[in-house]
Amino acid sequence: MAEKPTFEFHLVATDGRARAGLLRTPHGEVLTPVFMPVGTQGTVKALSPRDLERLGATIVLSNTYHLYLRPGDERIARLGGLHRFMAWPHPILTDSGGYQVFSLAQRRVVDDDGVTFRSHIDGSPHRFTPEKVIAIQENLGADIITCLDECAPPLDYDYNVQALERTHAWAVRCKLARTRTDQALFGIVQGGVFPDLRERSARFLTDLGFDGYAIGGLSVGETKGEMHAVLDLLDGLLPADRPRYLMGVGTPEDLVECVARGVDMFDCVLPTRMGRNGGALTRTGRLNLRNARFADDPAPLEEDCTCYTCTHFSRAYLRHLVLAKEILGHHLLTLHNVHLMLTIARELREAVLQDRFEEYRAAFWERRKGGEG
Ligand SMILES: [Zn+2]
Repeated sequence: MAEKPTFEFHLVATDGRARAGLLRTPHGEVLTPVFMPVGTQGTVKALSPRDLERLGATIVLSNTYHLYLRPGDERIARLGGLHRFMAWPHPILTDSGGYQVFSLAQRRVVDDDGVTFRSHIDGSPHRFTPEKVIAIQENLGADIITCLDECAPPLDYDYNVQALERTHAWAVRCKLARTRTDQALFGIVQGGVFPDLRERSARFLTDLGFDGYAIGGLSVGETKGEMHAVLDLLDGLLPADRPRYLMGVGTPEDLVECVARGVDMFDCVLPTRMGRNGGALTRTGRLNLRNARFADDPAPLEEDCTCYTCTHFSRAYLRHLVLAKEILGHHLLTLHNVHLMLTIARELREAVLQDRFEEYRAAFWERRKGGEG
């Protein structure tokens, strides 16, 4: 019998600090840089798996915290695992639930062993430990799973020192707690905006050794300059032969500027959330379809976009759907937004492979300057 394919990462090409890579997982290959649409509850809101396949999505993210609370990870395991449950036979990454516990759950009490919290759905009490979140993620069965971490406010040094100690101790326990060998485990680098803490975190986790490294605790209140400084620092500390995943960051401009700083993987709710709020991302800026100036606008969201939305519908029609609160409006805007993110990630990869990353980056910002957004 052939051995189960395990996780691999190959750095295919670099251009400056920008990287093009190839991830191999048990459920297929992922070319990087990659944008991962977010499927919080086991569904990318307003899109079907068929839509995602047609858009060229290769990997989606799902949330441990949400699926553990509802419908329950054990139930999903009994039903054949998350891939089968959500009918997405391609790669999946699950976060550890740390971020949700620290941002969403109620009456949260953290101690060195774990974190006790109440569900945001029904107030019921729960406890996450490193061992528990690994067990949940093994039940879900994603291709890439992540360590439990404590997310501290990015600008609070003392809190970050404390949280980092826990995050590191929990990373050791997560690594030991694994029983499956067909899932990649990513460590999560924390440390807020503080170079000494980020460096300590990167060194600790890379000494421990993970299949890949997630960068947490960014895009949560710090400036872009502070975020870029952290990425500049980590680029020199994280091993070149492992994937780097920037958690929760993903606008078109973030993709370009963070790929320029050596990041390979992104996820963000923005493209899907904006789609449900009547917003469109474009290469020249953001459009709010509620704006009256679109009422008689026969143009597509973006002239040269090849997505289904832009090749069939006008801004005027999309605005009408948004104002009438029609479900199709959510779907069509989300479709366009996710298409744009996936397209930009593919273009960034091509630019790296063809050694013209800086040319692409300059053209991206030039077009943006002339934009209407
Ligand atoms: Zn489009």
